[in-house]
Amino acid sequence: MDAARLHEYTHDMSEGLSIDSVDRPEITKSDGVIVEVEGAGWCQTDNHIIEGMWEQYVPQPLPMTLGHENAGTVVEVGDEVETVSEGQPVICHPVQTCGTCRPCRQGETMYCENDKFNGLTTDGGFAEELLTNERAVIALPNGVDPTDIAPHADAGITAYHAAKKAVRKLSPGDTAVVIGVGGLGHIGLQCLDAMSAAKLVAVDLKESARSLAEELGADYTLDPESQDVPEEIEGITDGRGATQVLDFVGADQTTALAPEITAAGGDHHIIGYGGHIHEPSQALVNGEFSFVGNIVGRYTELQELVALVEQGDVDLHTTRFELGQVNEVAEKLEHREIDGRAVITP
Ligand SMILES: [Zn+2]
Ligand SMILES: [Zn+2]
Repeated sequence: MDAARLHEYTHDMSEGLSIDSVDRPEITKSDGVIVEVEGAGWCQTDNHIIEGMWEQYVPQPLPMTLGHENAGTVVEVGDEVETVSEGQPVICHPVQTCGTCRPCRQGETMYCENDKFNGLTTDGGFAEELLTNERAVIALPNGVDPTDIAPHADAGITAYHAAKKAVRKLSPGDTAVVIGVGGLGHIGLQCLDAMSAAKLVAVDLKESARSLAEELGADYTLDPESQDVPEEIEGITDGRGATQVLDFVGADQTTALAPEITAAGGDHHIIGYGGHIHEPSQALVNGEFSFVGNIVGRYTELQELVALVEQGDVDLHTTRFELGQVNEVAEKLEHREIDGRAVITP
């Protein structure tokens, strides 16, 4: 079968992955599940993996098939698999967990001590078939198309995970700020809108992203190029600042906004990444705000997001591409030329 694989780290996105002919995966454990991939979302993280940014954090055996946002139809299951069978449409949580370590037993599946991460530490879904396990798949409700929902496996669940944390601390009258209304941000905005009564402010450089934000529930949109973001947020919040900030960009310029826009006791969630945080420690003491890290989300959070999708609360804006176009997609994303999410259809 064809698979888009990374052989060598590079900063040149035009030749990041190569389309190789590889063997179809085989089930080696009794809980194995093979999924025919119908949609695999392309993520900024794929660009970062190609650049080698994850090498120092996780083991990466190269060559490796990338693709961690996968959905499709089950084509084969191991002997002990009971919850799904051949022909079942599923979305694949990117992390294959063990179920027996202490974090797994606590439900903190992202902290599994024996995990494999599709397309990051093991072969992913930019291929015709993906090998995963029973603990990672979620059966899709009738009427939910695997190709359309695929990016929720990471983009969606990551945005949902941060939004759920934020919503716990948002009361009516509070303000939440979404920085970056791209692949993740446009989902995070809808999750906040569905789950909280807070005022929602969306910040994005692109006009198309700001109008999308308006359609998806933002009460205010700000253009950081022509507007003074801290001043505008001060006006919107009567000088209190935003209780929760969801930073889907994570660049030096956006993390630097935290001391000026985050309310006392509030949180600046880091979801996008690539930049640094360079704030004086005194700024955090003075405002008693926190920077909060976010990595994907629990298995059960993906179930909750699928429920929101089924209810019609979260729409995903996607554009489809063929497997052979992966490098073109990587370049387009680098130049901010993709609205919503790119989905590869292997
Ligand atoms: Zn991703
Ligand atoms: Zn585990």
